[in-house]
Amino acid sequence: MNSFNPPIRTLMGPGPSDIHPRVLAAMSRPTIGHLDPEFIRMMDEIKVMLKYAFQTNNEMTMPVSAPGSAGMETCFVNLVEPGDKVVVCINGVFGGRMKENIERFGGTAVVVEDAWGSAVSVDKVEAALQANPDAKILAFVHAETSTGARSDAKTLCEIARKHNCLTIVDAVTSLAGVELRVDDWGIDAIYSGTQKCLSCVPGLSPVSFSERALEKVRNRKTKVPSWFMDLNLVMAYWGSGQKRAYHHTAPVNALYALHESLVMLMEEGLEASWARHAHNHQLLKAGIEGMGMSFVVNEADRLPQLNSVWIPEGVDDATVRSRLLNEYNLEIGAGLGALAGKVWRIGLMGQSSKPEKVLFCLAALKEVLKG
Ligand SMILES: *Cc1c(COP(=O)(O)O)cnc(C)c1O
Repeated sequence: MNSFNPPIRTLMGPGPSDIHPRVLAAMSRPTIGHLDPEFIRMMDEIKVMLKYAFQTNNEMTMPVSAPGSAGMETCFVNLVEPGDKVVVCINGVFGGRMKENIERFGGTAVVVEDAWGSAVSVDKVEAALQANPDAKILAFVHAETSTGARSDAKTLCEIARKHNCLTIVDAVTSLAGVELRVDDWGIDAIYSGTQKCLSCVPGLSPVSFSERALEKVRNRKTKVPSWFMDLNLVMAYWGSGQKRAYHHTAPVNALYALHESLVMLMEEGLEASWARHAHNHQLLKAGIEGMGMSFVVNEADRLPQLNSVWIPEGVDDATVRSRLLNEYNLEIGAGLGALAGKVWRIGLMGQSSKPEKVLFCLAALKEVLKG
C-alpha cells in the first residue's frame, strides 16, 4: 500500500465543490480535545457564523456531525411524531427523500407533486393545506439539486404559517448561493450541507430550529426514535453556557475547516456571495446558449449554482463526462432519475463559482463536443 494522492480536479458538479486552500490548511492544524476550552470557543464562533449564514437568531443553530442527509433526518426525526400529517412537495430527488423520512418516522405524507425542473407550485400547496386542515408540517426543498429549480421559500413559508403549520426546508444547495432568510421568512427547521456553496469538506450538516419547532420537540408524546439525532441531547453538547456534556466526539478537524469557510463567507459578505453566484450563472448561460444548448429550468426559477443543461442530440453523455474528467480533470454532474442521460448538471457552487472556472468549463466542453 502507498499513500493516496488524489488527482487535482476542478469540481463543477452537484457537490462537492472546489475547496479553497485556506480551508484545507485549516483542516490540517493540530487536533485538540473536543471539550478543550479553546475548542468550545471555536464551536461558539461557528454557531455565530452559521446564524449569519442562515440569517437567524435561532439559538439552536449548529452543524450536525454528518452529511446533509443526516441534517435532513435530524429535522424529520425530531419534528414528525407518529400520526402527524405532513404536506411534502416533490419536484425532484430530494423531495422524494423527505417523503421517505416522514413515512419512516410514522407520519402520513400528503404529496404535492410538480414536474422535475419546475418550482414547487404555490397554488397546489395552498390547496393541499386547505384540504388538510389537520396537517402539522409543510416540507419542501428550496434548491432542488437534481434539476436546478429554485422554489419560492418565502411565499411557501407564509402559506404554511397561515395554516398553522411548521416548515421543514432543505437548503443544502441554497445556503450561501441564493437569498435565504430563515427569520424573515419564518422557517422553523432547516438543514444544509458544507460541501456545496460553503465550499467546505463534505460530512457536516448545518441546521437551525426556531423556538416554535423546539416547542414541538419538547412536547413530544414519544421519545425521539434516534438517540444520535435527538435534539434534546445534542443541545447539551452544542448549546449555550459553559457546561458541555459529552454526547459524541465532534469531528474536530472538519470543524476547523467549517470555521474557516465561514470566516471566508463573512469576509466576502453573504449578499456579495449571492451576487457572485448570480453573476457567474450569467457568464455560463451566455456560453451555453452560444453553443446552441439550452437549460432545463425556465429562467425565473433557475438556480445560479446548479445548471441543468439538455445534452445535444446524438451526443453520448458518459463519453463526454469521462473525456472531461480524463483530459481536463473537470467533473460535471450527470442527470438523475428521469433526467439520466438527458442532461448535464453544471455546478457553480462556492469556490467553483468563479469566472475563470466558468470559462474553462465552457472551453473544455466545446473541445470535447467537437468530437
Ligand atoms: C446534496 C444534497 C443533499 C444531501 O446531502 P449529503 O451531504 O450528500 O448527504 C440533500 N438535499 C439536497 C438538495 C442536496 O443537494
